[in-house]
Amino acid sequence: MQSNPKTFMAAQICHKGGKLEMKEVEWREPKRGEIIVKVMACGVSHSDSITQDQLLDGIKYPRTPGHEFVGQVCAMGEGEMKCKMGDMVGGSWHGGHCLTCEPCRAGDYACCTGQQYNGVTRDGGMAEYVCMRADACIMCPKGMDPAEMTALMFRGATIFNSLNSMCVKAGELVAVHGAGGLGKLACDMSRCMGFRTVLIGEGDKLQREMNLSRESFIDCTKMDVAKELMSMGGAKVILCCIAESKRLPSFVGGLCPNGQLCLTNISGEPYCEIPMIPLIMRRLAVCGQPAPTPLEVEQCLHFCKMTDMHVKVNKMALKDCNKAWECAMNPDEMKKPVLMMA
Ligand SMILES: [Zn+2]
Ligand SMILES: [Zn+2]
Repeated sequence: MQSNPKTFMAAQICHKGGKLEMKEVEWREPKRGEIIVKVMACGVSHSDSITQDQLLDGIKYPRTPGHEFVGQVCAMGEGEMKCKMGDMVGGSWHGGHCLTCEPCRAGDYACCTGQQYNGVTRDGGMAEYVCMRADACIMCPKGMDPAEMTALMFRGATIFNSLNSMCVKAGELVAVHGAGGLGKLACDMSRCMGFRTVLIGEGDKLQREMNLSRESFIDCTKMDVAKELMSMGGAKVILCCIAESKRLPSFVGGLCPNGQLCLTNISGEPYCEIPMIPLIMRRLAVCGQPAPTPLEVEQCLHFCKMTDMHVKVNKMALKDCNKAWECAMNPDEMKKPVLMMA
């Protein structure tokens, strides 16, 4: 058994708005309820900018970002029951829940009011090692590629979870408002789950990447989305996967009765104006979807394994973290940037 080091390398944000800096940090033994993961891969995501820009309470610097990581358990706190040494585990946005707030008491850990976020309110996976809460760890299915798993465990799992919890049946129409690799993943998942799927794209970049036919694509910069959707009978769900709130109101008229507009991405604009007439007359609903719990991430990973779903990744070294960060901030990027340790 290899022994654990006294110090290790981590990419850290050292002040608000700062870039990543490579730092040597001290090893800390895990407390009860914590495990240490020797990181193999860590995805870089647009949402890492939440840590950089201090967009949530409880972000202190220096902070190691990274809320999409996979690795092996190499140390455990006393009395650990969930994990064993050497287990392949992952960490997503959900970094642990309090078990005492009202949502926790109702078993709704995704809405815990005292929850921690990996890479945001506690150090995340852009490092050789990460100390995480065992209750937040994702037990990885065997035989999946670590880098690809990181690309599925946050936004991918949120999309999977959204489609799973909306009132939509196989064969009904789902419209995905998306771009880049994530938009493609959302369309692939929606199809695999049995929904008739149409992409609402910003321009035709993703249509060309995915080689989509005219019937499964609407360009929201040129076409009347509501009219196009109604010509297909209306969408049961419009799944919004990109940070945008300006065009959304004009999509609502494309929902069929009892349709749902599902928001999964916090945009720069905190408000979105929704037209009331279709909302009332067609019994429509506007829903949000918080980050998935560890169990929900596992279900998503098993789904992707079972359906042989793959995502394109761009593997980079930890020291190239700022380059990876730049790629992650481009919504049209088709390949998910993933940092590979050693
Ligand atoms: Zn709680
Ligand atoms: Zn749009």
